[in-house]
Amino acid sequence: MNAEIIAVGSELLLGQIANTNAQFLSEKLAELGINVYFHTVVGDNAGRLEQAVRVAQARAELIIFTGGLGPTKDDLTKETIARLLGRELVIDEEALRSIEAYFARTNRTMTENNKKQALVLQGSTILKNEHGMAPGMAITLNSITYMLLPGPPKEMQPMFLKYGRPFLMEQLGRHERIESRVLRFFGIGESQLETDIEDLIDQQSNPTIAPLAGDGEVALRLTAKHHSEIEAKKLLDKTEQAILERVGRYFYGYNDETLFKKTVKMLKEKKKTIAAAESLTGGLFLTELTAIPGASQVVRGGVVCYANEVKEKVLHVPASVLTTDGAVSERCAQLLAENVRTLCHADIGISFTGVAGPDPLEGKPVGTVYIGISTPENETEVYALALPGQRDAIRIRTAKYGCSIILK
Ligand code: ATP
Ligand code: MG
Repeated sequence: MNAEIIAVGSELLLGQIANTNAQFLSEKLAELGINVYFHTVVGDNAGRLEQAVRVAQARAELIIFTGGLGPTKDDLTKETIARLLGRELVIDEEALRSIEAYFARTNRTMTENNKKQALVLQGSTILKNEHGMAPGMAITLNSITYMLLPGPPKEMQPMFLKYGRPFLMEQLGRHERIESRVLRFFGIGESQLETDIEDLIDQQSNPTIAPLAGDGEVALRLTAKHHSEIEAKKLLDKTEQAILERVGRYFYGYNDETLFKKTVKMLKEKKKTIAAAESLTGGLFLTELTAIPGASQVVRGGVVCYANEVKEKVLHVPASVLTTDGAVSERCAQLLAENVRTLCHADIGISFTGVAGPDPLEGKPVGTVYIGISTPENETEVYALALPGQRDAIRIRTAKYGCSIILK
């Protein structure tokens, strides 16, 4: 199934708001294995909306509209589509009752134009609006599915997830089942990963393999289609195996797994506690770690030792080390990791020091990073990295590297 998303609203064309509805819907449709071929934006104008619909009808099997379902004159999506499809608009009693109830609840009198919001395309499936007044609707005519959703993301998103998506899944289910799985990788760049599995990507058809990159890591979304769910899963398993044979050493988890979640889980299982000395990352590592429920069982605490004086006075890195080796050095990372561990009475001490940029520091280039890891059992290890990218990317990648080291 291929789709087009038509966002209706002059404010989008005026640059007053960004078309986040299209972004949200595209992401959700991709998860269903539906290919979005076009995003269209059109103003609140019946003639131009009509043109846009005609173009979409010639090239899409699914057309999703957002916006223009409200009570005002400029809200004309329903009216335009009804006219084009030769369908009546009829009052949906349930929607009307909930609009009346809304006005009663808020002690306001309902004006006549609000009734308009209860009008729906005759014969369509109603998508309930639990966060506003105008209901959405979906209908399939002449092999094209039309779905109308409200403009406000707060109404549109829950409506799509609760009612719109199941409607589409049922449509798809008449043909085939969609199973998808995300494989997450860390420590390998997007282009390297794609090169390593280039032939698999080239051969792909079922499952499809879609690379996703962001936040200093890469992922692959595999989507398989089959009449039987079990067969669809088998197709995914086979492709996953072929991928992991090549790049399995960078693989860390499925779907919504994160390196931070995995780290908390692993430390909990091993009953180990951790403390961090964060210079380069300025608290980012512990912020991410403590965002995970259950972190209190494993996180002891840490020191944001951004200034050299704090490294010296709080974490006892000798001034001589800071002046000879520098703050960004193997020796400094080692001492920070060891001393934060003892200071916080933790089983593991980890430290982050480096150059986030934009300018070099101590004559060391941007992206120079040292991560120290100290435990009572082993000699302290220090990892020297040369990370690509800019400030934000370097900081988050460094924090994630910390996790990947702990997970080793
Ligand atoms: P309402 O009942 O609020 O009038 P509506 O369905 O008629 O809803 P619009 O009037 O087109 O929708 O848009 C209402 C608001 O929703 C816009 O002012 C904007 O804040 C938001 N919105 C509309 N379209 C989009 C979009 N494509 N992406 C993000 N936000 C949007
Ligand atoms: Mg409106």
